[in-house]
Amino acid sequence: MAGLASPLSRRILRPLQGSGRIREGSPEIAGAAGASCRPWDDGPACARPCIAHSPLVAEQALARGRWVKLIGGASNQDLAAIEDLAGLYSLAGVHCLDLAADQAVVAAARRGIAWAENQGAARPWLMVSLSDGADPHFRKAWFDPTRCPPSCPRPCARVCPALAIPTPIGALGAGAGSDSGSGVLAERCYGCGRCLPACPLGLIEERDHNLPPDQVAALLVELCPDAVELHTRLGRAEAFAERLAQVCSSGVPLRRLAVSCGLESAVSAQGAGVSPELPTPEALARELWQRHEQVLHTGLAPLWQLDGRPMSGDVGAGTARAAVRLLAAVAPLAPPGPLQLAGGTNDRTLPLVQRLDPDLQRAVAGVAFGSVARARLQPLLLQAQGRGGRLLDQPDLLPLASAIARELVGPWLARD
Ligand code: SF4
Ligand code: SF4
Repeated sequence: MAGLASPLSRRILRPLQGSGRIREGSPEIAGAAGASCRPWDDGPACARPCIAHSPLVAEQALARGRWVKLIGGASNQDLAAIEDLAGLYSLAGVHCLDLAADQAVVAAARRGIAWAENQGAARPWLMVSLSDGADPHFRKAWFDPTRCPPSCPRPCARVCPALAIPTPIGALGAGAGSDSGSGVLAERCYGCGRCLPACPLGLIEERDHNLPPDQVAALLVELCPDAVELHTRLGRAEAFAERLAQVCSSGVPLRRLAVSCGLESAVSAQGAGVSPELPTPEALARELWQRHEQVLHTGLAPLWQLDGRPMSGDVGAGTARAAVRLLAAVAPLAPPGPLQLAGGTNDRTLPLVQRLDPDLQRAVAGVAFGSVARARLQPLLLQAQGRGGRLLDQPDLLPLASAIARELVGPWLARD
């Protein structure tokens, strides 16, 4: 644990800063977040040095603090949306797509990536998420709609950001949830939990959506991801080691092993009697050092995801503070490896990072966008689905969709 006292500046290396292919501050970059760059028209022949056509490779982006990951959702199985999001955010220049460990989800994402590559985009890493135990990211809501009073004003449906609870309740049409008898479209639900307290009758329950241990290795062989993310909590070092062993037994070569952890999940774990530790940044850092030893033992390279306020980036600007505060508290104590923000991240995250002490700013390897990235495109996704096609194939909607994706991602790609 000697590393707990390591000076922040000793563990932060950004040797490539200022020497990249992207021309910071150039008119092309400004245009890339707006309407002047049209890669879907120009295709591979376009040679303009814009963000969409010159993404840093993933490791360079981590080293420069410009890494951007799209979180599709660890339990999100909305295949139509995943395909469109994968295509649009790949075209926008993200370095990684973080998805549910599910064959159909990964196949949908690969179709979206192939579309983006045809437009001249670089192929992002494909990461799948697993957990070493109970975790809100790996759950789905469920309720029996026959128990709902007809007079209920359905607050559950109003609060659901994924439109996973149809109105009228029980009106599950084509593509409805595979969990028959549920009032929730299981494929769309990504476990945010907002509907749980919304029901005045307490009818909504959460159901675990975690992968059984004996399925991990075979599934990874089938999916062949570039990276795996393990969600963990304080007090779960043993469970983490077991999950990590299952991942390694697959033999799939991984570029990074991401570890996702935060203080909010620590509070939940403590409430469940799982963790004996107070949920402090120091306690989290100690656990990260434990995970560091475990990951290093496997020969994998870690990537630390600091999960501020999970699955809340679409709620409002204020949610961005949690992840940045967590970074500021944990970075001086954290083990070696890139630190990436997540949980409540949105377009307020970068301005908050830019207010930090310079050493802390340099500690930020990048960001992951989840619910905000999905919510911003949701109206266009629904419009395309209403026409029975992909958003990627709608020439009248595509320019706006692409601009929305690049508006969120672009400032991080061009970060100083
Ligand atoms: S509110 Fe969240 S947990 Fe509830 S159904 Fe919608 S996505 Fe699932
Ligand atoms: S709020 Fe509760 S009772 Fe009302 S529709 Fe939703 S699940 Fe049913």
